[in-house]
Amino acid sequence: MLSEREIMRYSRQIAFIGEEGQERLKAAHVVLAGTGGLGCPAAAYLAAAGVGRLTIIDSDRVELTNLNRQILHWEKDIGREKVVSSGEKLGAMNPGMVIREVCETVTMENAPSLIGQASLVIDALDNFPARYALNCAALEYGIPCIHGAVSGFDGHITTVIPGKTACLQCIFPDPPGGSEFPIIGTTAGIIGIMQANEAIKYLTGRGSLLENRLLIWDGRDSSVTILDLERDPRCSACGDHLPGAPGTGGRR
Ligand SMILES: [Zn+2]
Repeated sequence: MLSEREIMRYSRQIAFIGEEGQERLKAAHVVLAGTGGLGCPAAAYLAAAGVGRLTIIDSDRVELTNLNRQILHWEKDIGREKVVSSGEKLGAMNPGMVIREVCETVTMENAPSLIGQASLVIDALDNFPARYALNCAALEYGIPCIHGAVSGFDGHITTVIPGKTACLQCIFPDPPGGSEFPIIGTTAGIIGIMQANEAIKYLTGRGSLLENRLLIWDGRDSSVTILDLERDPRCSACGDHLPGAPGTGGRR
């Protein structure tokens, strides 16, 4: 049940999603992997929207070079753990949200236990080994995962529904090269907010998701291209040969 204060606080969106939609947001547990350029804006809008529980995962500490885009981390936070820095700001934005801070790198070993209880996972990571680990764990537990990535003025986003859509590994069977790349801060902001928008749509059952669709943003000319995707039956993460694959009666 929503309190009187919550009904007032979220009245401008309750007018659209109803109290039932707001209750769904309150009941949700979103796991956000990465509290950098994508994760900061995504988390801020999920907190503002009234998501009830948010687990934030990041093993990094705040660096000076993060500050052009990672808007929950400020000058005073340099050297602090990112989950502590962002958890503090998110808690101040919305004291009603339960926040769990996990200062760990996402790996194949820990990803299942990190996301097992989630309603929804957001991939706001910055490297493919961790993204693949998150993708596999989300497939294993049948949890939707909203993937986003940015470089320079370019960004993309898609929503993976296990057993139904292409997964991250179907789309990117091999990790793209390079670890350090330039980023215009607004590119990360735009894609991070689109990830929060997908989350709000999924959790409230409104609109249509970027399922089997890859939205590509080009900030140079503010253009949006949407590519249709298909699940790859030979995919090493979600393919039909795997135990539990779609149609085999398994969990996936
Ligand atoms: Zn796949």
